[in-house]
Amino acid sequence: MAIDVTGQDLDALAARVRAWLEDNLPPHWRRAALDGDRHALARIARDETTVRAWHAELGRSGLATPTWPAEHGGLGLAADAAAVVGDELARLSAGRPESDFVGVALAGPTIIEWGTAEQRDRFLRPLALGEHRWCQLFSEPGAGSDLASLATRAERVVPGGVGGRPLTGRPTGDGNWVVDGQKVWSSFSDSADFGLLMARTDPSLPKRRGITYFLLDMRSPGVEVRPLRQLNGHAEFGEVFLDGVVVPDSDRLGPEGSGWAVALTTLMQERSGLSGRPGVGPGRADRIAKRARRTGAWEDPVLRDEVMRAFVAERALQMATVRAFAALGRGEPGAEGSIRKLAYAQLDTSLGLLETKAEPGGAIAWGAIAGDGAASENAEPDAAAASEAFLSSKIYSIAGGTSEIQRNIIGERVLGLPRDKDPYADLPFSERPRG
Ligand SMILES: Cc1cc2nc3c(=O)[nH]c(=O)nc-3n(C[C@H](O)[C@H](O)[C@H](O)COP(=O)(O)OP(=O)(O)OC[C@H]3O[C@@H](n4cnc5c(N)ncnc54)[C@H](O)[C@@H]3O)c2cc1C
Repeated sequence: MAIDVTGQDLDALAARVRAWLEDNLPPHWRRAALDGDRHALARIARDETTVRAWHAELGRSGLATPTWPAEHGGLGLAADAAAVVGDELARLSAGRPESDFVGVALAGPTIIEWGTAEQRDRFLRPLALGEHRWCQLFSEPGAGSDLASLATRAERVVPGGVGGRPLTGRPTGDGNWVVDGQKVWSSFSDSADFGLLMARTDPSLPKRRGITYFLLDMRSPGVEVRPLRQLNGHAEFGEVFLDGVVVPDSDRLGPEGSGWAVALTTLMQERSGLSGRPGVGPGRADRIAKRARRTGAWEDPVLRDEVMRAFVAERALQMATVRAFAALGRGEPGAEGSIRKLAYAQLDTSLGLLETKAEPGGAIAWGAIAGDGAASENAEPDAAAASEAFLSSKIYSIAGGTSEIQRNIIGERVLGLPRDKDPYADLPFSERPRG
């Protein structure tokens, strides 16, 4: 049953959520989080039955998706109140995991904004309850920063077929779509049930105008996922090959040819969501300081100075996020989300390096987390986590749009500087020079 949070101010809301978590989160989970026991938390994360049951409970309470409307499993909270909920969940490592970011933070709001009643009914409730995993199928080998250059093709099935090509054994159906192409860097695509797919439906139009957005069933025949191993040892993203994949027209999100506008909803949510903790209080810099005092690294005045700088940057970003969410209310995030995304990427890079500097052995614990990317049971958990943080510290300067692209957005859309000119802006996509 949904938790009742009507008419509460932010402090009362935090207290209400804390009390609910005290009553409902399994006690061993709560203990592990309060003790900061990384091994115990990793064991809980691997216990699928417990995690699944908890996500269903969280979904029923509305706390997993606090900004969503009540009829779709949310609490209808404004962004600042939702940030308070997120902060309470994060304190106990009880929120939805990073692998659900695409589903909860991107797919949900985009479907709420653009979906038909049928699509909202079909997708939102299972998402809130943690029953469906989602991935984002935007980037391609030739389209990352310049996403509008994507070449994955979706063609409508007309009586008689698709471009004269037979699709043996696949029920097509007039009006449906057949998709061919390749996506890359698609996080958690190997475990996803559905994908947010952008595909070109009309190459005779300029590049942003001929794109359509689909909700792809990842189990459809013709979808092949090949995981890619990353520097940090994980293989959480992959290449996705689409070979004659039939997508029903009922899984098109938004009007045909409006995929760019739909994608902007997703991208704004992504930038705003990739800016760290939505609350003010102890963060990673505080943890590094504590750890450095234990290891003796704190004796180094240069390290102390670096930690203090990171501490100030982290608190400033937390406050900026809280302020941005308060100003946002129930509206959609705008281009200013790029400022926080850029600051977060810079902070994450410096914190990753600092974590290893606080360890007596620097980053040489790497061997302990190689292989499947998970820290081994007998690895020194803080040292292994520090190595992993260092090896992952460039992620946010690339994922969700690179830092250079955020700077372009800030320059053009926040500061009003002249736009980067595209000499081919009005050319049909099919006539644009390649490369
Ligand atoms: C951990 C991780 C997870 C990801 N997950 C997903 C996912 O789930 N789904 C998905 O679709 N994508 C995902 N991506 C892909 C990500 O969105 C792209 O990598 C990113 O947009 C950059 O595109 P690119 O790699 O093609 O680099 P390019 O666009 O080729 O850029 C190369 C370099 O050129 C610079 N550059 C390019 N254009 C400009 C310009 N106009 N001005 C200034 N500099 C410029 C870039 O900043 C960069 O340094 C993920 C990436 C990472 C690292």
